[in-house]
Amino acid sequence: MFTFLSQKFSGVLKWLNNKGRLTEENINQALSDVRTALLEADVPLDIVEAFLDEIKKDAIGKNVHKDLNPGQQFIKIVHDKLLEFLGGRNALTSFSFQIPSVIMVMGLQGSGKTTTVAKLAHEVMRHAQQRGKKRHILLGSVDFYRPAAVEQLSILANSIGVSFYKAPSADPITAAQQIYDYFKANHFDHLFLDTAGRLHIDAEMMSELVTINKKLAPKHKILVLDAMTGQESLHVATAFDKAVGFDVAVLSKMDSDARGGAAFAFRYALKKPIAWVGIGEKVEDLESFIPERMTTRILGMGDMQTLLEKATEEVSLESQQSMTNRLMGGNFTLQDFYEQMGLIDKIGSFQKISRYLPGAQDIQPEMIEKGQHEMKKFKAIISSMTKKEKLVPSVLDVSRKKRIAQGAGVTVQDINQLLQRFEQSKQFVKMFKKTGMLRRFLK
Ligand code: GDP
Repeated sequence: MFTFLSQKFSGVLKWLNNKGRLTEENINQALSDVRTALLEADVPLDIVEAFLDEIKKDAIGKNVHKDLNPGQQFIKIVHDKLLEFLGGRNALTSFSFQIPSVIMVMGLQGSGKTTTVAKLAHEVMRHAQQRGKKRHILLGSVDFYRPAAVEQLSILANSIGVSFYKAPSADPITAAQQIYDYFKANHFDHLFLDTAGRLHIDAEMMSELVTINKKLAPKHKILVLDAMTGQESLHVATAFDKAVGFDVAVLSKMDSDARGGAAFAFRYALKKPIAWVGIGEKVEDLESFIPERMTTRILGMGDMQTLLEKATEEVSLESQQSMTNRLMGGNFTLQDFYEQMGLIDKIGSFQKISRYLPGAQDIQPEMIEKGQHEMKKFKAIISSMTKKEKLVPSVLDVSRKKRIAQGAGVTVQDINQLLQRFEQSKQFVKMFKKTGMLRRFLK
């Protein structure tokens, strides 16, 4: 996500940071590079100009911070402006649906509308579950134009464990009413209604949406925009807003090689929140759009907060606590090391995690592959150890190492490498503990 912009921006900022002194000349060079990056990311020219004007205004004189060097000052100005353009610090950071409510999901055909309906329903269920609650969700579709769209939603509903109702009528307006009646009669908490999309905006589609909107009066209207369509998404959003109106947008396919210009342009031009972004084809591939976190990602500073949240969600409270206790007690064993690697598996792949790290744009795919391969090897080695060896690795002499190497299908050198890494991790935990950072980190 945002890899393109992130690569460009961090390149400019790195260059500037090495300059020691900010002169008008190097500010102009940096601004010109930022301009090219935004244009290449498909941000409309007028928005790019507005953005650069704002930065220039701040870069010349005011709003500079005493403790920062000139390069850092410029980064701070770019950061603050970018944040402002993406929605600001106080933007909506979580979106909740009223109970009961009808949620109408709109968008062009192929934008990811149907997939997003399932993702949203899955997200609502997951959130409720985390708080020990259950939601009764109904999915329905009036997308009769795209072949198999209704069937697709029915399969998705089944896969995430929510209800689906197929309307008897094949007329979109009548079908919408039938689905609504079913929703009411069966006292569901939410109805997510997938509407028809066309390949392009057309009058018939809009008038259909306007009528359904009038009849059902949905509490929430969500527009799905395909991040890959760049500037075009701005026209789409404007047309939907004028005809039907919507509350929030979901930007789908942000995992693709979309250059991120859509998010930038949409947020600035329409002043409506992007509540989520789609980051894959699976139902769990939905992430909240939090401007502050997106800003740091674009600038190549990573998004550790989202990564930590993902880790917390995936690991049971119990295992988190026992890991915390062991770390705090200073007894970090090879078994813990093994469990930590398991945690990476749970959150996702190395590749997924690397997206959130500072400098993500510079991480080469080969490095990720190497890390993944190494981790697999280390896990096999630890699995081949006895309980005692895991607790007291110093008992590992040459003959024990040979036995383990044979069992795990690795070399003795691999085992030595693991022990070296383990030692480094232990030192890291120790240092963390000493500085009091560990407690803060684990809170
Ligand atoms: P609809 O016509 O708008 O209902 O579009 P679909 O939901 O059928 O999605 C169109 C295609 O985009 C499908 O192949 C989806 O799997 C894919 N898709 C949807 N959302 C995402 C996303 O966030 N990332 C990626 N990579 N693909 C997506």
